[in-house]
Amino acid sequence: MYFLCFFCLFVSGRKWSRQFLLSFWCTVCSAHQGTIFLSLKIQFADQKQEFNKRPTKIGRRSLSRSISQSSTDSYSSAASYTDSSDDETSPRDKQQKNSKGSSDFCVKNIKQAEFGRREIEIAEQEMPALMALRKRAQGEKPLAGAKIVGCTHITAQTAVLMETLGALGAQCRWAACNIYSTLNEVAAALAESGFPVFAWKGESEDDFWWCIDRCVNVEGWQPNMILDDGGDLTHWIYKKYPNMFKKIKGIVEESVTGVHRLYQLSKAGKLCVPAMNVNDSVTKQKFDNLYCCRESILDGLKRTTDMMFGGKQVVVCGYGEVGKGCCAALKAMGSIVYVTEIDPICALQACMDGFRLVKLNEVIRQVDIVITCTGNKNVVTREHLDRMKNSCIVCNMGHSNTEIDVASLRTPELTWERVRSQVDHVIWPDGKRIVLLAEGRLLNLSCSTMPTFVLSITATTQALALIELYNAPEGRYKQDVYLLPKKMDEYVASLHLPTFDAHLTELTDEQAKYLGLNKNGPFKPNYYRY
Ligand code: NAD
Repeated sequence: MYFLCFFCLFVSGRKWSRQFLLSFWCTVCSAHQGTIFLSLKIQFADQKQEFNKRPTKIGRRSLSRSISQSSTDSYSSAASYTDSSDDETSPRDKQQKNSKGSSDFCVKNIKQAEFGRREIEIAEQEMPALMALRKRAQGEKPLAGAKIVGCTHITAQTAVLMETLGALGAQCRWAACNIYSTLNEVAAALAESGFPVFAWKGESEDDFWWCIDRCVNVEGWQPNMILDDGGDLTHWIYKKYPNMFKKIKGIVEESVTGVHRLYQLSKAGKLCVPAMNVNDSVTKQKFDNLYCCRESILDGLKRTTDMMFGGKQVVVCGYGEVGKGCCAALKAMGSIVYVTEIDPICALQACMDGFRLVKLNEVIRQVDIVITCTGNKNVVTREHLDRMKNSCIVCNMGHSNTEIDVASLRTPELTWERVRSQVDHVIWPDGKRIVLLAEGRLLNLSCSTMPTFVLSITATTQALALIELYNAPEGRYKQDVYLLPKKMDEYVASLHLPTFDAHLTELTDEQAKYLGLNKNGPFKPNYYRY
């Protein structure tokens, strides 16, 4: 069994510096025979609607993004340096070739490739694990023969992932999972270096599906792996080319929604290949929710409002991972932070961390900023909005735009004034105005950049999941949805440690025996909460 595991051979090759990797992966492989790979089943209502309905541009809001669930929300982030809004010609109507003469791509403007290449090079600096995988793969090609069709945000970070997959031996074809988030320069750089990319910023709905189709429906090329973010690509193949699943070895899915769809398919007995749920891996959850929000909350507020945080009174609704990240960042800037919670455990954590636990009603008149992070609905109601003081900033960091009752502000007596992109002033008849950011959608996704290092964790997990599914011997995975084992999470984390010149302590034999652990991990049981 161990010798059959290509992955073990790959990681244990002489270019892999750490001896423990061999036993590490062997243990992972042995776990495959057992039950470490958990198969988690969740029930979802309205399955029919999710998989049978072709989403509209608006409808895709609820179907596509991992955090916002939206293929229409986007990372506004990295600036587009070369976009020319005068160029109204649809990329579909342009005849473009890269410098090698290939026209197997469709991007906004291939001439922007040089700028995109610079963006990719910057991202590479913050994606150490993928760069390490590339180095270690010299000579070893764990994805040789893999034909990966991908549908993700097309950003510099995705480009680093795609080029890593290429370095590991895969052929890739790629479309965007979001009609607004493609960085045109990056798409051009990828097309220039030979990746068939079909994506540009501002696609129509028809373009969106056309691009996906151009990735899949190719003469003489058929995908054998899917990397999806939101489930639209998987959905398209199910709907249009179900026979392709005969050759597809697996699906790797990043988003909450896409994962939900896979579990629905699995539950209905319609999932025809194994799938990996990257979204629920520990490292992704921790980094996306806690650290990413700690980094991006200030950025989102600053870019939209130019505000100073010191001394400002802020109320954060919800003290889960996202709330903890927001509170920590604001506290560090000298803000006076209040927390609301429904759960006594999280409430006690907030108190122990030095935050005043209040009901929203108690502070709503005095606070300068209201931030929702609950994943719940109607946390901020029209009554709260009516009572806020002049210039109060209201925004949401939770999953969907349900937390603030924005719809209640669409009444005739209130005036809406768009003052900047993603910033609305809502004005009451007496002149009071509140500052509503991103119309109550996820602030950081709409108004700030996402830290590349965070995206590196997810991208590395995706790469490892693809390698694993592609190389798994017949029968290791069934037609079900699998979580990555803790060992893989630990491995992803370990690949990011050198960035910090961090020195990990190794267990002695005696200590390992005392704790009942394998010296190479996993170091925690699956129920451990971190
Ligand atoms: P969590 O479950 O850890 O925390 C949410 C907290 O809100 C819980 O402690 C819950 O008790 C509390 N809560 C629920 N209803 C409440 C109410 N009415 N008033 C006060 N508190 C209430 O979840 P999380 O990981 O912190 O994620 C929160 C939301 O943010 C989710 O919707 C998640 O999908 C989203 N999210 C956003 C980002 C981002 O980048 N902005 C990243 C990851 C997750």
